Amino acid sequence: LDKGLIVSFGEMLIDFVPTQSGVSLAESPGFLKAPGGAPANVAIAVTRLGGRAAFVGKLGDDEFGHMLAGILRENGVEDKGINFDKGARTALAFVTLRADGDREFMFYRNPSADMLLRPDELNLELIRSAKVFHYGSISLITEPCRSAHLKAMEVAKEAGALLSYDPNLREPLWSSPEEARTQIMSIWDKAEIIKLLLVTLGEKGCRYYTKGFHGSVEAFDVNAVDTTGAGDSFIGAFLSQIVDDQTVIEEEERLRKVLRFANACGAITTTKKGAIPALPSECDALSLLKD
Ligand code: ADP
Repeated sequence: LDKGLIVSFGEMLIDFVPTQSGVSLAESPGFLKAPGGAPANVAIAVTRLGGRAAFVGKLGDDEFGHMLAGILRENGVEDKGINFDKGARTALAFVTLRADGDREFMFYRNPSADMLLRPDELNLELIRSAKVFHYGSISLITEPCRSAHLKAMEVAKEAGALLSYDPNLREPLWSSPEEARTQIMSIWDKAEIIKLLLVTLGEKGCRYYTKGFHGSVEAFDVNAVDTTGAGDSFIGAFLSQIVDDQTVIEEEERLRKVLRFANACGAITTTKKGAIPALPSECDALSLLKD
């Protein structure tokens, strides 16, 4: 049976990560090139689990852009929605690992190719075939990729796709879980069309809110070494489980089962360094669920 296509829209870039923490990239004895960008991670999270995904976005027509497109293809992500910009370079992020474990980023984005995707470059046929259309926030910030983003969203929605949005709001924005709850409920009240809201809470698992019910699902107890990509892994896992039967969202017991699976995938992703290399296969996820 052919699985439904998940189209993930947005940026893909390379993180340059120092091998030593507490120093800048320039002071580190070495560095790693880590492919990333949340929408690209989500697409690979889906294919690693055996689902179908396409990435829609723009890369530079340079060594980094072709390297990233190659990584998507190697991972079985459909590449018919990828454009290469002749002039601008691929987005890059230079990372500092602070001694307290947090990351600081310096971006090459002035402008990078991902920001230059135009509406007329979109592969509309591909977008129309999506069962789920997933996107983040960065592509909404500047033109012309903002217009491309809005058009892609519109086309996907008209074709009947479920829209999935990761605003990437971070905990520091909220002073407490109660404040978060209040904020979420106020977004909720204004947004008639939202069917399901998920909040991931790292080692505390996740919460879910629908019109009819809400609750939380505990995380798995794992030895976390690098949480990069955990949220993207969670999203990819969730989407891969609901793409072919979206009624799952409406039934709490079935939804909780899918969220347990997504928590398992998020947890596994924290047990290895990097985002993409740490994304689990279905087999990895099932063996954690069995324990
Ligand atoms: P993000 O990567 O966007 O910050 P989170 O850190 O909330 O997202 O992680 C997403 C999911 O991954 C969580 O809901 C949880 O299921 C899992 N996860 C993340 N960190 C841990 C951890 N330290 N231990 C167990 N599971 C984790």
